[in-house]
Amino acid sequence: MNKFNIIRQKVSEEEKQQRIKDYIEEMEFFGFPISETELKRLQQQDLYDEKIHLKCLRCGHEGIHNWEFIDEVWSRKSPYPSIYCPKCGKGGFIPIDVYNSKRNK
Ligand SMILES: [Zn+2]
Repeated sequence: MNKFNIIRQKVSEEEKQQRIKDYIEEMEFFGFPISETELKRLQQQDLYDEKIHLKCLRCGHEGIHNWEFIDEVWSRKSPYPSIYCPKCGKGGFIPIDVYNSKRNK
């Protein structure tokens, strides 16, 4: 069970169309043009972004970051991701849920 929450946000229609357009171009570039059926499926699908709210144990800076990126840098050696804070540059930039439970102890 996760000790922290991932925020799931629905991507706006405009943003979705832009991403589909980019995807089509990318696939064509690599020589895999997508079919009408595939395009239809993409159009009907809702897109979601996954984000995570992080807070710094040292300076208190907080921000919402793409989960995809955080998930990639998280080594899984600790029970939750802990990265370098973009503000103070030190380690201990952690999910806000973990931050709160540490502070409430
Ligand atoms: Zn900091």
